[in-house]
Amino acid sequence: MMPIEIHMFPCLNDNYGFLLHDKESDLTATVDTPEVEAIMEALSQKGWTLTHIFNTHHHADHAGGNLAIKAATGCRIVGPKADAARIPGIDELVEEGDEFFLGDHPVRVLDTPGHTRGHVVYYLPEDEVAFVGDTLFAMGCGRLFEGTPEQMWSSLQKLMKWPDNTVIYCAHEYTQDNARFALSIEPNNKALVDRARLVDIARAINEPTIPTTLGLEKSTNPFLRPTSQEIAINVGMNDGNNKDTDLVEVFARIRALKDSF
Ligand SMILES: [Zn+2]
Repeated sequence: MMPIEIHMFPCLNDNYGFLLHDKESDLTATVDTPEVEAIMEALSQKGWTLTHIFNTHHHADHAGGNLAIKAATGCRIVGPKADAARIPGIDELVEEGDEFFLGDHPVRVLDTPGHTRGHVVYYLPEDEVAFVGDTLFAMGCGRLFEGTPEQMWSSLQKLMKWPDNTVIYCAHEYTQDNARFALSIEPNNKALVDRARLVDIARAINEPTIPTTLGLEKSTNPFLRPTSQEIAINVGMNDGNNKDTDLVEVFARIRALKDSF
């Protein structure tokens, strides 16, 4: 099996669009529909015919182009069962544990509530890539618009079970801001300091910082690091020596601090 082809391109102010193409079956999916014109242009540039939309969640910068793109291409829309009523044009309802195929490529669905009630992510284990929408960002995670810290921490822990080399495509270029915040609560994390420097260099020449890998996120993303003593201390939890530190509470405090950063 040939690896899935992935084409990433900027949409709107700070979103990314993603096309997945399986050459053997000639199937092409877009992950979400942030911007109709940018997606149609990317399809025509690549010479690919859209067959599927994989929606992660209902927000307008993710599902707002569904109906126009479906009308233009006749594609089928796959989206979260838990939020079917808010996914325009949805045809196939998926949920935790579902596996479907794009050509010969298995695509696994995980429910990751927190940012919204019905967020899903799409994981292609054979290709070692994942499309995580607004659940996980490079050095960040989605805001808790409709969920609790407990839900989001539980969602992120599911992603943390993937192999470290899993390539992660998140939906926004928030990395530089996220790095500044991460440094404010874990300034002695050398991997984080090094990464933040590379991110600054990339952004200075307008290079994307996406995709990332799970391993890199585990070592630098504060939202995956409530076990860090330095972070626990800096969010005011305890002296950092308490083995029973409540990870959900640390996570909740990180999220609250970031919201007002
Ligand atoms: Zn969103």
